Amino acid sequence: MTGQLILKPGREKSVLQQHPWIFSGAIQSVIGNPGIGETLEVISSKNEWLASAAFSPSSQIRARIWSWMENENIDVDFFYRKISDAVRMRKELNLYKTSDAVRIVHGESDNLPGLVADQYEDVIVIQALSAGIEKWKSEIADILKTTTGAAAVYERSDVEVRKLEGLEEKCGLLTGTLPANEITINEGGLRFLVDITRGQKTGFYLDQRDNRLLAGMHARGKRILNCFCYTGGFTVHTLAGGADHVLSIDSSGEALGIARRNLDLNDLPVNRADWLEADVFQAMRTLRDKTTMFDMIILDPPKFAPTAAHAAKAARAYKDINLLAFKMLKPGGLLFTFSCSGGIDQNLFQKIIAGAALDAGVHARVVQWMNQAADHPVSLNFPEGHYLKGLVCEVNPAK
Ligand code: SAH
Repeated sequence: MTGQLILKPGREKSVLQQHPWIFSGAIQSVIGNPGIGETLEVISSKNEWLASAAFSPSSQIRARIWSWMENENIDVDFFYRKISDAVRMRKELNLYKTSDAVRIVHGESDNLPGLVADQYEDVIVIQALSAGIEKWKSEIADILKTTTGAAAVYERSDVEVRKLEGLEEKCGLLTGTLPANEITINEGGLRFLVDITRGQKTGFYLDQRDNRLLAGMHARGKRILNCFCYTGGFTVHTLAGGADHVLSIDSSGEALGIARRNLDLNDLPVNRADWLEADVFQAMRTLRDKTTMFDMIILDPPKFAPTAAHAAKAARAYKDINLLAFKMLKPGGLLFTFSCSGGIDQNLFQKIIAGAALDAGVHARVVQWMNQAADHPVSLNFPEGHYLKGLVCEVNPAK
């Protein structure tokens, strides 16, 4: 250990409850001269040993806990144990029957705060989102490669949040040989192109796997609007499920280019799909003004509220698009609506959707609640890990 972090009196509670974050306001003093990402001992005001943690000197989350066991060293073996356990858990989930693209490590909920690792066939793409992970990155890459048998581990740490940790954005190969920049994955029997080096985040939104399969099951004979379609995940699943027509909207021309190719890859009829490169907020208004109606609308926007501080503004944005969607659904139509905002919890999201239905003058019932897929587990001591929530609402005219 290179230093000690002494907590203020009474601030040990969250550590004892095994919450992995220590905020700057809870800290009395830092003893020693620890460098960025180095391991510290966390000590209570009564001088009790509480945990070992990685130091993030420039972040409000000043330390992230690795272990609550005093005799557990933070070394290569530690990371080997944690990653092996994460890999084992994914195998036991039996996801590989329906997909060869799986989230192998989901940060805090896999006891590796700040590490995201997604496996696309035999390539693993990681994001190092904390100083502690950055420090152990090359060891972690080697362990990921050996525990999964992957051909390569590629880094996509080109994300804004790295700034909060005092880290630069970084991309590139960490170990092995990249078979290609574009990988073809399988999800529920359908194929998708994932651009490892240029796609959004790690390349594909694996958290929506179950919900795409669900939407596919509801699609037969329907006219569908898919907003924020990215590379056409919901588009491909709903067309394969027998949709009559899907109009898909995204602001990224690059994503739409791949989406079109995903349609071909699955031999789906191109005449049943239309694509619109546009801002969803504007495009939905234009559609509403033309009184275009749909049997099913999917709304999967990006994170409007990264933290609770952004909740009010984000709530307005969610309400706006959901209100428009309610107005454009035929009687008996289905709304698949999502929020991946950490700053908006399940309750608040449902209240926002209720407000939108009321203002749109429709009667809506939740027929199913949706969540992130099982390879994105949530530690009970880290409820923040539950970020993706969704509702399937059936919509009818108000009585
Ligand atoms: N549903 C997708 C994932 C959506 S991610 C899937 O299953 O794969 C969110 C998408 O919203 C991204 O593709 C991003 O390019 C797009 N986006 C963000 N802001 C937008 C806006 N204002 N209008 C249209 N698209 C937007």
